[in-house]
Amino acid sequence: MSTARSISWVVATASLLAAGAMTTAMAAAQGAAAENPKATEVRTPVPPVVTPGATVGAPPSDAIVLFDGRSLSEWVSAQDHTPARWFVRDGVMVVNKAPGVGNIETRRKFRDFQLHIEWRIPADITGSSQWRGNSGVFLASTGPGDAGFELQVLDSYRNPTYVNGMAGSLYKQSIPFANAARKPGQWQSYDVVWTAPRFNADGSLKSPAYATVFWNGVLVDNHFELQGQTRYIGKPCYEPYAEPAPIKLQAHGDPSQPISFRNIWVRELP
Ligand code: MG
Repeated sequence: MSTARSISWVVATASLLAAGAMTTAMAAAQGAAAENPKATEVRTPVPPVVTPGATVGAPPSDAIVLFDGRSLSEWVSAQDHTPARWFVRDGVMVVNKAPGVGNIETRRKFRDFQLHIEWRIPADITGSSQWRGNSGVFLASTGPGDAGFELQVLDSYRNPTYVNGMAGSLYKQSIPFANAARKPGQWQSYDVVWTAPRFNADGSLKSPAYATVFWNGVLVDNHFELQGQTRYIGKPCYEPYAEPAPIKLQAHGDPSQPISFRNIWVRELP
């Protein structure tokens, strides 16, 4: 046996012996646990009972319904907090792109939540890139206009644009793992888990925001750490804002046909 082979034999033998010792230790530990299973059983706190929706996407019993197809009573203008002036037609909410109307946001304010929202690009959509069915869901609205953290809404079905600005992106921050777009004219869904940022008393960042996004059931952002509020130009950065904050929907200035929303609900997280 060469010296090199001899050394490798010694190392291999030592590894096997170590593995044997580990197995014995693990078996002893497992044996101890088997003797007292109650030592690892937790009895409190008991989770609250929540009745799931009757169908996938329907609001569970503890959800706050933000739009049920009938009224915009949960929504106000993001500019001046007067009643929202978007349209309700045939059980769906339609963006009002008229000048001076702008974005709408929830009357209620939220911190960490689970959000379900459905949206539809019109079948007759025109335009390209960012000028084709652009809207957005701001997971926290931190001021008027587009201030906040935007989850992009866009027609991304065979409509190339910069990838950190397509549907499923945290606008100009994340690139979605996949393009799960349905054709214009079909309803699509976002299911989002949002963890709001926290700020220290002096306004410095205590902990960043995180977003997990399922687009039509496909995971596209997984606990993504945001670098700050959305910026159209320049890098995102955190600025302290009044918490909790509304959820906001975007009336984008592109001239393409307005998109629709339906079945919007939120569950506040503990
Ligand atoms: Mg947008």
